Amino acid sequence: MRPLLLLGSTILSVTLSSAVFAQAPATRPHNVVLFVADGLRFRIVDDHTAPTMAALAREGVSLRNSHALFPTFTTANASSMATGHMLGDTGDFSNTIFAGFEVPGAAKSQTPFLENDAILGDIDEHFSGNYLNEATILKLARDKGYSTASIGKIGPVLIFDPTERSGNQTIVVDDATGTPRGIPLSAEITERLTAADLALATPSRGANGVAGNMSMPGTLTANVLQQDYFAAVTTRVVLPMFKDRNKPFVLVFWSRDPDGSQHYQGDSLNSLVPGINGPTSLAAIRNADDNLARIRSALGELGLLDTTDIIATSDHGFSTISKESQTSSTIRTRFADTLPGHLPLGFVALDLAHALNLPVIDPDDGYKTLGEGQHTKLGNAFVGGDRRNPRIVVAVNGGSDLIYIPDGDKSVARQVVDALLTQDYVSGLFVDSKLGKFPGTLSLDDIALEGAAVTPHPAIAVNFRSFDTVCGEPVLCTVEVADTVLQQGQGMHGSFSRADTWNFMAMQGPDFKSQFVDPAPASNADLGRTIAQLMQLDVSDKGKLVGRVLSESLPNGALPTVTSRILTSDPAPNGLATVINMQMVGDTRYYDAAGFPGRTVGLSITALPSATQ
Ligand SMILES: [Zn+2]
Repeated sequence: MRPLLLLGSTILSVTLSSAVFAQAPATRPHNVVLFVADGLRFRIVDDHTAPTMAALAREGVSLRNSHALFPTFTTANASSMATGHMLGDTGDFSNTIFAGFEVPGAAKSQTPFLENDAILGDIDEHFSGNYLNEATILKLARDKGYSTASIGKIGPVLIFDPTERSGNQTIVVDDATGTPRGIPLSAEITERLTAADLALATPSRGANGVAGNMSMPGTLTANVLQQDYFAAVTTRVVLPMFKDRNKPFVLVFWSRDPDGSQHYQGDSLNSLVPGINGPTSLAAIRNADDNLARIRSALGELGLLDTTDIIATSDHGFSTISKESQTSSTIRTRFADTLPGHLPLGFVALDLAHALNLPVIDPDDGYKTLGEGQHTKLGNAFVGGDRRNPRIVVAVNGGSDLIYIPDGDKSVARQVVDALLTQDYVSGLFVDSKLGKFPGTLSLDDIALEGAAVTPHPAIAVNFRSFDTVCGEPVLCTVEVADTVLQQGQGMHGSFSRADTWNFMAMQGPDFKSQFVDPAPASNADLGRTIAQLMQLDVSDKGKLVGRVLSESLPNGALPTVTSRILTSDPAPNGLATVINMQMVGDTRYYDAAGFPGRTVGLSITALPSATQ
């Protein structure tokens, strides 16, 4: 009998492998367009404000329980979409981080702003060639021989394939294209741009780039001209080229609007209303929507709509800026660029220096020691120590800041926590678990910021207070204290309020259900993971903080079991406790809001609204 059995199993295996082989051509993956409308709030999208996105959500999948990752900033969330990992793994903890070395492309600053191609190159080089320490979806896609492109806002665009700087594999077109600081254009794309009568350099933001100041309102213009160029490059050059190549492709389009316009808008100088709900912000939302409409039309004209999945998301939500505090030591000091009584840029560093009686050194201005009535150039600071050995580093970001304690001194951490617990602008503190437990705080591990990252690890993430102006829907009129040079009434994000974590998210295409509202929690890390599965990429993880494939949104996919939890710290001596509202699908964590009760919009201390209602 033995030989017969062997024969039988041989025949079986031949049959199986030929069946697999026969299926292979049919499993060619569809294309993916990932469209990111930077800073687009979930609840602002409707048929009036953003008709293309509203239609995408209605006809495809609406991910209404969506989540940006905290800190709710651009490069952090880009790193998450690009890798499918949370920030504890990618090490892109915020837009401005402490790099731990003098970054050449940042004029030797150790607190670089990551929305810069030269700086991303320096940081990659310093951290073994890839600061993210995980492969990105565009890298894995080109490894498969697929076409890849990333177009739009500088910073996040390159983060989708930071190690490919030649321009010959992934097409990168961002603000720096055509300048010595940009990623070069390949000969092929240069030829096609020229044939299409398009410039070889990206136009500036023009009037959209006017930030204003304490007496002059910022911009009243959306980023139309610059994004018209990006949209033209995408629809007239890149998509036709990808069609000619007849291979699967992944294209990322990152629209700076509405983010850039909501930050700088001059609709509301020094007033909380209309804040980021004025005409300039609405024009910016429409501008992003128009870009998506053009990309969708081009896919249709090229006959690619039936074979292309469109995923639209935003990196984070948005809020209006408050610069008010009763407790900060800075509000009694006059600063040349700050309204009297308002918080200046860099107030966290100044308050810590005041509380701990330490000098402030400016890492962005030649490591000069600060004088009276001054703040540092960009708000970032070394507090105590010296250029080589700072005691405390403050990396300024906006609706939250990061604090680093490079020597890991627990008594310094204790002093910083004590000082911050006295400030009315703080709402929630998250401390590196290596530094110990502090009443009133939760750990960075509790918010998925402790993982396999290779960049320096923050000691403390400081979330700022938020409230609303009572418009009937708090997340649409949230105001947050922000560490920024911008004015009260302009726009910011980065906080742990639901207004900043609730990003727009929708998907439509051959791989997705139609007319489906997904009630399960989803995050930007999940999008990276989902794209990797759709494109059949060979993912190998270093860290464990991974998102999940949004399988319930795929045909025949079942809804996962969702649980929700409230984490509460021990109270500090003054009664403050950090609280987190979270949801879970298996081991995957989603953070709705966090902070001190009463100081964060969307934070509940009792029951969470059920995720599946
Ligand atoms: Zn922004």
